[in-house]
Formats: sequence, structure tokens, C-alpha cells
Amino acid sequence: VDPVQEWRDIVGGANVLTAPDDVAPYVTDWTGRFVGRHTTVVRPGSTAEVAEIVAACRRSGTAIVPQGGNTGMVGGGVPLHGEVVVSLRRLATVGEVDPVGHQVSAGAGATVEAVQLAAAAVGLRYAVDFGGRGTATVGGSVATNAGGINLIRYGGTREQLVGIEAVLGTGDVVRRMTGLVKDNTGYHLPSLLCGSEGTLGIVTEARFRLVPAVEHRVLAVVAFADVPAAVAAASAWRRGLRDLEAAELVLHDGVSLVAEQFGLPLPFPVAHPVYVLVEAAGSTDPTDELADAVAAVAGVRDVAVAPDEARRAALWRLREDHALAINRVGVPHKFDVTLPQHLLGEFVDRVPAVVTAELPDARTWIFGHVGDGNLHVNVTGAPPDAPALDDAVYGLVVAMGGSISAEHGIGTAKSRFLAMQRSPAELAAMRAIKTALDPDGIMNPAAILPPVRG
Ligand SMILES: Cc1cc2nc3c(=O)[nH]c(=O)nc-3n(C[C@H](O)[C@H](O)[C@H](O)COP(=O)(O)OP(=O)(O)OC[C@H]3O[C@@H](n4cnc5c(N)ncnc54)[C@H](O)[C@@H]3O)c2cc1C
Repeated sequence: VDPVQEWRDIVGGANVLTAPDDVAPYVTDWTGRFVGRHTTVVRPGSTAEVAEIVAACRRSGTAIVPQGGNTGMVGGGVPLHGEVVVSLRRLATVGEVDPVGHQVSAGAGATVEAVQLAAAAVGLRYAVDFGGRGTATVGGSVATNAGGINLIRYGGTREQLVGIEAVLGTGDVVRRMTGLVKDNTGYHLPSLLCGSEGTLGIVTEARFRLVPAVEHRVLAVVAFADVPAAVAAASAWRRGLRDLEAAELVLHDGVSLVAEQFGLPLPFPVAHPVYVLVEAAGSTDPTDELADAVAAVAGVRDVAVAPDEARRAALWRLREDHALAINRVGVPHKFDVTLPQHLLGEFVDRVPAVVTAELPDARTWIFGHVGDGNLHVNVTGAPPDAPALDDAVYGLVVAMGGSISAEHGIGTAKSRFLAMQRSPAELAAMRAIKTALDPDGIMNPAAILPPVRG
């Protein structure tokens, strides 16, 4: 049987894309660094169709790469080896918000923003938020356990997940969408599938807890002379600023780049080396609380407070548009890492030299979620494949006691480095899970687990 014809029979001819122009947007990732091979894209419209596609792929031995919004940063969502792309975007329904249980269910293809808007419409809020919200999907954010800017207050995607429906690599559908908050009935499959990056199965629907919406929100940009001062301030705010929602670190060269690329005003008339965007939100106006918290920390060089929503949005763009602005400079090599908080300053000082020792003309851009120790190191001017650069940066991260992936996942970009971080026993447990749920190894085979040697 011709597999492509079989897929057409399942999802309808119009939902199987093979023409190069139609397939192109599914093949290259958001950064432009990971370019897959021309392939077929299958767009199922229901869970039953996803299950039939997985079953058909098992029969034909066809490897699958699940894909949502294709905003992933680690080359895990594109068909680098010619896998069939199963795009979940048609499963975009957002259900009714449960106003009593404070939960909502959404199809894998709904955007994170669609979930946020549905919650906001009834005075609630979906707590996960990040720059890719308008394109990133429920399925992709669950599959990568997306973190984002409010993680310090509400946790990441896993902490919101109260139910899941997925088609496993076996073809079986697992569904537990009751949303029971307390439910200790064996292994917690939502947690297992969250962060599995499409290697165990295809998420088709998820149920999330929602948090109360807050009426009052205030953002300040606080300037510091160096990263250690910014880290110390963020630590003090985590301890003492009750309504703290976000603490994001940016450096002057990144802020200038964003301002220049998008015609935005700089936060201050004079440049300072380091800025932290600190946001507080509460049911009463947190402006005074924030002002007191900023006044209480050492080393503050200047403060800009957004007086209105328009200015707040413009200031946030200085952080959130970093990835877009860097894409305009060149195809970025991205390192999404966590360091122990007290070493963030030393890491920021050391990493540019580590990069230029490998690639003298490369440029390093650093920004990140300072409240949880997560930095995004972007390198432009490097070839897409730069193993010596990877070795050098991840070597530094591991030597300093950090993690090679904070929130973007392992994907294909970092699978070679997984063994630096996880013990042989942990890797064996992961492989055993993979084999049980995906016995034929068809689910995103190049992602996460490195190929077994020998
Ligand atoms: C501007 C910008 C800002 C970002 N900021 C953040 C941030 O702050 N924090 C953060 O964590 N990430 C961030 N990201 C990265 C990315 O957006 C998230 O990881 C996002 O959750 C990926 O969702 P997606 O739908 O685009 O997934 P894709 O890119 O399509 O896929 C990502 C991975 O998930 C798998 N996958 C996708 N859908 C499914 C499914 N239904 N079932 C099983 N597996 C699936 C893919 O195979 C792949 O391995 C950002 C991205 C952009 C572009």
C-alpha cells in the first residue's frame, strides 16, 4: 500500500501536502537554523484521525515528527531526516471555561494566546506566557513544557496541566480529561507526556488550570551596573515582593539592537550595562509595593516605570523582541541554559570569550529569565552546525553546575549532550519508557535520546 494514499484516505486529499511550496513552511524551523528534508505533511482533523495515522505509520514503518506552531528552538519539530510531519494545527478548538473548577480544555492546535483569551473573557487567566504565544500551540507547549516569563509565580506548563489526551506511539489513545486536581491513581501520564517532545506520542488535547486574573499590573525597568547586582535584586524581590510576576534580564547591546530594529525608544537617556524588567500584578495597585522593593535594593542606577498600557507594551517589546531582532542579524545558534543563580554574573562574563575562542567573528547576545536562573545565549555569525562551539558553551555550563536546557528542551540540537547531564540509570529508564510507549521507534526518533551506540 502507498503510505501517502493511505494518509489521504484517512484525512482527505486536501489535508496531505506534498507540493514543495505547501510543505516549505513546515520544513524549516523558526530560527532558520534547522532545515529539514522535503517530505509529506499530514493534517489530521480529529483525535481518531491522528490515531489512524499513527497506526498506518506503524504498519509502514514511517517515522513521524509532530508539529504545532513550529516555534520550537531546538530542531525537534522539523523533519531533519525526511520524517512525515503530522501537523496538529487543525485541532484548534478551545472549550468552554469551567467557571467553578477554573479550568479549560483546548485542542493541541489552539494557540497559547487563544487559551489566554478564552480565560480572560471570563475573568480568569492562563498563567503561561511567552513571546511566541500567538503561534506556539497547546500541543507544542505541553510537548516542550514551555516556561516563559511568569514561571517564577505560577510554574511552567507542567504545573498548569490537569488533564491530557494523546495518541501514543502504539496507536492507543489515552484520555484523562476530568481535571480532578487530586487524583493519585498511578502514574501521572500528563506529567510524563509533558516535556516528551513528541517522542512518546502525539498530544491531541490538554486541560489546564486557570488562575485569577489580576486587575492591576505595573512594570518597571531597573538599570544596574552589572549582572551580579541585577541577580541580587531579583533574589530580594522574589523574597519580599509579594505580587512579583516577572523578572527578566536584558543587556544594553540587546536592548539597543531591538530598539534599532523596530524603531522603539530606549528606556533611559543614557546607556546602562544591565536592565531588569520587573513586573508586579495584584488585585490592588502594586505600584507603591514595587517602588519600595526597587528602592530597597542596592546598585540601582535608574528606574523607568510604565505610566500606561502603551508604554508598558513598548517596554516589554525590548525584552520579548530579542529573538526576532537577533534573527535579523543572522541565523542564531541558541543556548537555553540554567546556572546556579550566584554564578549568573560569572557566566555572563565568561561566555563571550568562550564563543570567540572558537569563532573569532561570532557575536554573543544574552538575555533571560533572571528570576529562575535561565539565560538565553544566542550566537550569531556561527555556521548552523558548529560542534566545537556547542562543546565549548555546554562544557562551561556543565562545569559551572548548570543545565544545558532550561525550557526549550533537548530536541535534536542537544541530544548529543544529554549524557553529560543524565546518569546511565536515568537514560536507561527513559529508553525503557520510550520503548514501551513507542515500540517501533516511529515517534520523533531523532529527538531527545541519542542513538544507542554499537
Ligand atoms: C518569540 C519566541 C519566544 C519564546 N519564548 C519562550 C519562552 O519564554 N519559554 C519557552 O519555554 N519557550 C519559548 N519559546 C519556544 C517555543 O515557542 C515553545 O517551546 C513552544 O511551546 C513550542 O510550541 P509549538 O507549537 O511552536 O511547537 P513546535 O515548534 O511545533 O514543536 C516543538 C516540539 O514539540 C513537539 N510537538 C509539537 N506539537 C506536538 C503535539 N501535539 N504532540 C506531541 N509533540 C508535539 C515537536 O515534535 C517538537 O519536538 C519561544 C519561541 C518564540 C518564537
